[in-house]
Amino acid sequence: MGFGTAKAKQMREAIDKAITEAKLNVIPVKLGCGSWECRCGKPHSVSFRAWGKAGSVEVVLMPAPRGTGLVAGDTAKIVLRLAGVKDVWTSSKGETRTKENMARATLEALRNTLAFKSVKDWMRT
Ligand SMILES: [Zn+2]
Repeated sequence: MGFGTAKAKQMREAIDKAITEAKLNVIPVKLGCGSWECRCGKPHSVSFRAWGKAGSVEVVLMPAPRGTGLVAGDTAKIVLRLAGVKDVWTSSKGETRTKENMARATLEALRNTLAFKSVKDWMRT
């Protein structure tokens, strides 16, 4: 019980940090449907594979078809949900137990979804 509470408290802190950081940076996230299996064009996932790194943690976000949900660890899930992502596959490596870096890496990956947007927009015009 004591351990469970301590763990919950850590989780709570990780959530708070993720929220604070997301608010501070006001990350513009490029949502879309980059899934080959789905192609609905609705902004329920990410448009592109996006990569993020914080400390030793690396996170890759991959477009997933609708209904997949957030295939991610608890910390990443919270950040993704905040960003409005509904379906995504993630893979991560490094010290993923370090919740703060996990949250940061996920935010970084989300921020990187925007980097691809401008390239695509240039190509379109
Ligand atoms: Zn879709």
